[in-house]
Amino acid sequence: MKYTHTLAAAVLAAAAILTVSPATAALTPGDANANACVEQGRATMKVRPGGAVIADPNELTPAEAAAREADLRYWLAARGKMDGDSVTALAPTVPVVVHVIRRDTTRAGGNIPDSMITNQIAVLNNAYAGRTGGLGTNTGFQFTLQAINRVTNPSWYPIQYNSSTERAMKAQLRQGGPGTLNIYTGELSSGLLGWATFPSSSIGSYDGAVILAESLPGGTASPYNLGDTATHEVGHWLNLYHTFQGGCSGSGDQVADTPAERSAAFGCPTGRNTCSTAGVDPIHNFMDYTDDSCMYEFTPGQASRMQAAWAAYRA
Ligand SMILES: [Zn+2]
Repeated sequence: MKYTHTLAAAVLAAAAILTVSPATAALTPGDANANACVEQGRATMKVRPGGAVIADPNELTPAEAAAREADLRYWLAARGKMDGDSVTALAPTVPVVVHVIRRDTTRAGGNIPDSMITNQIAVLNNAYAGRTGGLGTNTGFQFTLQAINRVTNPSWYPIQYNSSTERAMKAQLRQGGPGTLNIYTGELSSGLLGWATFPSSSIGSYDGAVILAESLPGGTASPYNLGDTATHEVGHWLNLYHTFQGGCSGSGDQVADTPAERSAAFGCPTGRNTCSTAGVDPIHNFMDYTDDSCMYEFTPGQASRMQAAWAAYRA
C-alpha cells in the first residue's frame, strides 16, 4: 500500500452518524427519558493523507459540545461526583478485547500477528502513563489485554464506516460492559485510520474503537504505524475531543491546559501557532492529527476529563 502525503485531503473529523440528538441541558434528575436522550451513535474519526473525506469536515458544533458537557455534569452529579476534580484519583485498568477482522488468513487480508496487538497494548500503557518520551501526564489509565478474537468474514472487510454491516458486526462481537474497550482492526473504508465512539449513559453494542490494522506498531501505514491511532481513538472513547475542537474561539476542547488551535496539524510542524490566544498549538498532543512520531502527551486537564467521564459513564 502506498500513501501520498496530500494534506489537502485531510480535513476531517467528528461525524454524526445517527440522528439521535445529543443529551441536552434539559436533562434533569428524575427525567424519565434521561437514559434515552443521550447520544449514542456519534463517532469521531481520523483519516490517512489522501483518504477520502466522507463526512462533516468539522467538529461538534458549540451547541453539541455544550450539550455533551451538560450531560457529563448531570451524570457525575447522579453518581455523587461534583466535578472532574473529585475523581482524579481513579486508576482504572481497562480490559481490552481486540477483534481482528480479516478477509482471509493472510496478512494482506488483515491477519496481523499477536505481537502487533501486544505491542499496541504496550503503546497504550506507555501513552496513558506519560511514558512516551517521558514527557506526558500519567492519566491513571492502564490497559490489559483480555482476549484476541480472530474473525474471518469477507462481508465485513473492509470495515465500512457507519454501515449496517459495521453495526451488525459489532452487535455480534462486542464483549463486556461499558468499561470494556472493544477494538476492531482491519482494512477500513475511505482511507480512514480509525474512529471511535464517545461515552454516554446508554452504551450499547456500537461502542468501541475501529482501528486500521496496519496502524498498529510495526504496521505498514507509515507515518501512522507506531500505534498512536489507537492512542488517539481511545482518547475519544474516554471523552476527549480534538485539540482543534472549536478552533480559536469559545471553550474549544473543554480542557483548559491545551492551547487553542485553529485547525488540525499534520506532519510535525515547528512553531505552529494558529490562534492569538496564549500558547503555541499543541501539536505533540495525542488528540491532534500529527504523525505518530510527533505525539507524546496528554495533559493534566485531559487526564481529569477522562477520569470524570470514566466515573460518569464507564465505571
Ligand atoms: Zn479523532
